[in-house]
Amino acid sequence: MARKDNVTLFREDGTRLDGRKPDEMRPIKMEVGVLDNADGSALVEFGRTKVLAAVYGPREPVQKYIVIPDKAVLRVRYHMAPFSTSERKSPAPSRREVELSKVIREALEPVVLTDQFPRTAIDIFIEVLQADGGTRTTGLTAASLALADAGIPMRALVGGVAVGKIQGRLVLDIDEVEDNYAEADMPVGAAPDIGLITLFQINGVMTREEVMKGLDMALEAINRIVEMEKEVLKSKYMKVEV
Ligand code: ADP
Repeated sequence: MARKDNVTLFREDGTRLDGRKPDEMRPIKMEVGVLDNADGSALVEFGRTKVLAAVYGPREPVQKYIVIPDKAVLRVRYHMAPFSTSERKSPAPSRREVELSKVIREALEPVVLTDQFPRTAIDIFIEVLQADGGTRTTGLTAASLALADAGIPMRALVGGVAVGKIQGRLVLDIDEVEDNYAEADMPVGAAPDIGLITLFQINGVMTREEVMKGLDMALEAINRIVEMEKEVLKSKYMKVEV
């Protein structure tokens, strides 16, 4: 984080290096049902960040000892492909990937109706194809879509985005360059339709006011992200025959 080099991340007109306004997200693309061999799948792009999610289940797990008698067990694997970063990343799971798998699992658990499928497992594989900041929140968004695509009942859809503080200013949806120089970054995941925040982290230093303003920025953006998820799902599943 927070490199101290003498760089400026804003242009004279107040826009960011890629031309975005402080409260502007990168262009978002979402597609569901992109894999034939998974029960559900989604590809989500936030700018150059591209993340694929595949869901299997509910199914009887091979490892019988993991089952829970009264609900499904949710398993998440977040992984960065070796080609996803500018310097090749080792394919072996890193500590960061183990932690992010847990963070994303905990961000989905409150919305998945696991009690409808006792003694089964629901497996979510999140594969970062290209990393340019915000992979956990893009991965969470892709996982939510892939779960819906797999037909797994959920209380609500979840979306995520990160807010950053760079050179004293709050910016929405920070990319990798901004993250490298940020004073703080704050990934947020939420299910707006049921008023739940399911992922909230802060890395760095922010004032209380900045946290509250950043949270508002993130939640407003997540509303839009979740609306996009609904549109993508509707256009796949609600095709009207004429
Ligand atoms: P997030 O991807 O959720 O923002 P981080 O803040 O940990 O998570 O990472 C910020 C960005 O730094 C990532 O999106 C990616 O572009 C880059 N990055 C993270 N880990 C690595 C790594 N092992 N090798 C190269 N780049 C990485």
